[in-house]
Amino acid sequence: MTGFQGRHFLQIPGPSPVPDRVLRAIDMPVIDHRSAAFAELGKAVLSGSQKIFQTSGPVIIFPSSGTGAWEAAIVNTLSAGDKVLMVETGHFATLWQKMARRLGLDVEFIPGDWRHGADPAAIGEHLAQDKDHAIKAVMVVHNETSTGVTSRIALIRKAIDDAKHPALLLVDTISSLGSADYRHEEWGVDVTVSCSQKGFMLPPGLGFNAISEKARAKAKTGGMPRSYWDWEDMLKPNADGFFPYTPATNLLYGLREAIAMMLEEGLENVFARHKRLAAATREAVTHWGLEVLCQNPEEYSPVLTAVVMPPGHDADQFRKIVLENFNMSLGAGLTKLSGKVFRIGHLGECNELTLLAALTGIEMGLSIAGVPHRAGGVDAAMKLLEDRTSANAANHLKLIKT
Ligand SMILES: *Cc1c(COP(=O)(O)O)cnc(C)c1O
Repeated sequence: MTGFQGRHFLQIPGPSPVPDRVLRAIDMPVIDHRSAAFAELGKAVLSGSQKIFQTSGPVIIFPSSGTGAWEAAIVNTLSAGDKVLMVETGHFATLWQKMARRLGLDVEFIPGDWRHGADPAAIGEHLAQDKDHAIKAVMVVHNETSTGVTSRIALIRKAIDDAKHPALLLVDTISSLGSADYRHEEWGVDVTVSCSQKGFMLPPGLGFNAISEKARAKAKTGGMPRSYWDWEDMLKPNADGFFPYTPATNLLYGLREAIAMMLEEGLENVFARHKRLAAATREAVTHWGLEVLCQNPEEYSPVLTAVVMPPGHDADQFRKIVLENFNMSLGAGLTKLSGKVFRIGHLGECNELTLLAALTGIEMGLSIAGVPHRAGGVDAAMKLLEDRTSANAANHLKLIKT
């Protein structure tokens, strides 16, 4: 942005702002990716990533966007003609479903209203009816970035287990990992898909697959024709910290730093911070008299909040006013929500004061755009954050002492 002083406020739900520490870590000479120095970096990021995915199993890092990591998950574990069960939680679930069809999968797509997460009971019913186990995988999006709704993965796992169904569980955590509580191993997920530019606080360019033993075994004997995305090709050199082709070296420097930052704060504190900021955002939105798109409080996203624009007002026009006046980007409504919602990202490099500044820009924008609202939403958010600061300070003291 030119013509503005101060930082651009990138309050979209990914890509998210990159912390200075991470930017400085990336600002390094490129090194030989076959050297001993590289192997140390490779080992550090591969084992560090396991901590963020909360798994003791392998995590694979591709030079790719999240979409590439989606494809890797599919081509390693499924074959053309395989039946899979997916749920229409929003724009991203719909795109993943399109990809699955293009790759020849037979998709059963449970319809949704884009205001709720994947319903564990509906998944359980579909699986219970599938007596011959034709369904080879259940594929869901953990945090639907287009709607600000999370799906409850532990309950979906339970539904699969209760149906005694052998389907693999594939989960997109592209916008949730590193922001919302997520446990690959404990929740029995077979492939967790993620990428670098959202909760990981990195620039775009890295795609991730965390994989279970069951998924790896499936890949060894099956899957689709593949080369670039092949897990085993990756895992062999990964054992010594290397990659089969040129990795995104400088992003890996950044990844090492971002992982260190998350572990210093403590994952529990990272998750609590995101929940606190999300609660403050909803407090402001409801005070303004606007509606949060997510309709189930148990599924509120800690990563972003999608806000419904009152009828007769265009969300994109409002976003334009905010951008032009206050140098802040808000997320657009995607496909069927286009013009109807705007999305506030509160993930990664975001704290109380960053959020309050963002909410202030939104409140001023509502006034300028002539969108009917009750003033004082920022005050309401401040109150909520004030009430929760004691817990925050206690955490901080604990961190300083340890
Ligand atoms: C951003 C996003 C994607 C797509 O990731 P790219 O890096 O743009 O390919 C997929 N799923 C979800 C949930 C996302 O938020």
